[in-house]
Amino acid sequence: MTAPILDIAIVGGGIAGLSAAYELSKHGIQFRVFEAGDRPGGVILTERFDDWIIDAGPDAILRQKPAALKLCQELGIAERLQTTLPPRTSYILRDKQLHPLAEGSFLGFPLRLGALARSSLFTLPGKVRMALEPLLAKRDTDNDETIAAFVQRRFGNEAVRYLAEPLLAGIHAGDVDRLSVRALFPRLVEAENHFGSVLKAFRTLQTPTSSKGAFVSLPGGIGELVEHLVNALPPQTLALSTRITDMQRTGTFLLKTSNGPIRARAVVLAVPAYVAAGLLRGIDTTLSSLCNKITYASTATVAFGYHKRQIDHPLNGTGFVVPRVEPNPLLAATWVSSKWPNRAPEGCVLLRGFLGGGRDQNCLEHSDDTLIEMARNGLSQVLHISGPPLFTRLYRWTQKSPQYEVGHHNRIVDIQQQLTNVPGIFLAGSGFQAIGIPDCIDDGRATAVQAAKFTNSQID
Ligand SMILES: Cc1cc2nc3c(=O)[nH]c(=O)nc-3n(C[C@H](O)[C@H](O)[C@H](O)COP(=O)(O)OP(=O)(O)OC[C@H]3O[C@@H](n4cnc5c(N)ncnc54)[C@H](O)[C@@H]3O)c2cc1C
Repeated sequence: MTAPILDIAIVGGGIAGLSAAYELSKHGIQFRVFEAGDRPGGVILTERFDDWIIDAGPDAILRQKPAALKLCQELGIAERLQTTLPPRTSYILRDKQLHPLAEGSFLGFPLRLGALARSSLFTLPGKVRMALEPLLAKRDTDNDETIAAFVQRRFGNEAVRYLAEPLLAGIHAGDVDRLSVRALFPRLVEAENHFGSVLKAFRTLQTPTSSKGAFVSLPGGIGELVEHLVNALPPQTLALSTRITDMQRTGTFLLKTSNGPIRARAVVLAVPAYVAAGLLRGIDTTLSSLCNKITYASTATVAFGYHKRQIDHPLNGTGFVVPRVEPNPLLAATWVSSKWPNRAPEGCVLLRGFLGGGRDQNCLEHSDDTLIEMARNGLSQVLHISGPPLFTRLYRWTQKSPQYEVGHHNRIVDIQQQLTNVPGIFLAGSGFQAIGIPDCIDDGRATAVQAAKFTNSQID
């Protein structure tokens, strides 16, 4: 029996694959999304029960990048977007105490001398070193470097230990001594190149901070975006519980799925880079090994519900990050019910603790009970919690956080170059050059446009 032929097969039903599918639905192209799991969304997962709403993975959409807001508008849910609750303060743990990030800071770096002077996070020598940044000469080479190397050069060691490591590397669940500053924070590199100083650049360019904060979400959690996106797809275009196990090129592409073979004129791989590497092995070994060089980190999210009265802390902010030098097992914590409205029943609070990441690669080898205990201890140390939680949820994200290490930019250039040898294969999503939800939406849609052009050129 010959396998059915599609114009485009999309492999992976995370936000990148679903956004590609949504875009293709506007181009009159015949496509199907194949998702290995039994639900769409990938790392976007919202669990709801009683009056609790728990984002197990991402919980916030950056407003500054318009792709997600535009998609929400097209889906008719822009009116539902909600901003974070004031006071929106984020904290950093130092010597077991929480220190607020300075007001008006950029990526945690206080832009104004007054704010730096008032900060309780840094020692006096640390502040003096940071204040000197505008006076330092700019680097005269253009090589990529780690986030740690960049911040150490510009702002000194204390800024690496208490800002760059927990905050800049931490949001990528990564190791500050390995992640690429150019791939993840190109604005820092451009600031040094064009203005000679990060502080000078952002003092000059600083746009007035919105009183509504930098992030938005939806009342039903980020999962609501996935639900609306899936509802906007034509019927029968999303195949769940359908893993692609092998791919061959025989004129068109032959995909083996757990539910039988499929043929496609083009394939969008919106899967982690190591999965793409496996699927490309029989098609182009160079491309496959380039994809395999992109490494991943694992994290766990542990959510806890408590009565408010059990917590001896005002939870006046969005949460905190933990530098690795601190004796606390957490990477970070979100005070969910202080960050977003209506995530916990009246009189209760919802907290999330994060474990693992690039700094603690073996963390997920611990048992569920140990991970829960680690997160609970980490939160209790800081928030002085009494008594057991009302409920606990553990979510394991094994090899789900791509690590854009030094050289990532060049690796992507090599991958793009190699892709020209395999017409009809397209790569999308967070493994390659899309950091966070808005970029994944943008990348998925842009990749779909390219794939549609390719199949149209084949048919014409
Ligand atoms: C814990 C956590 C918190 C985060 N917080 C934020 C945040 O607050 N804001 C933000 O913007 N970003 C955040 N991110 C990043 C953001 O969530 C991701 O960048 C984005 O969701 C990745 O989408 P994706 O579609 O590229 O990949 P994924 O979501 O990983 O989707 C890939 C899909 O491919 C499927 N798949 C794999 N192999 C196969 C196969 N062989 N056949 C078929 N299907 C397959 C998988 O099952 C999965 O559904 C967070 C990420 C994590 C892990």
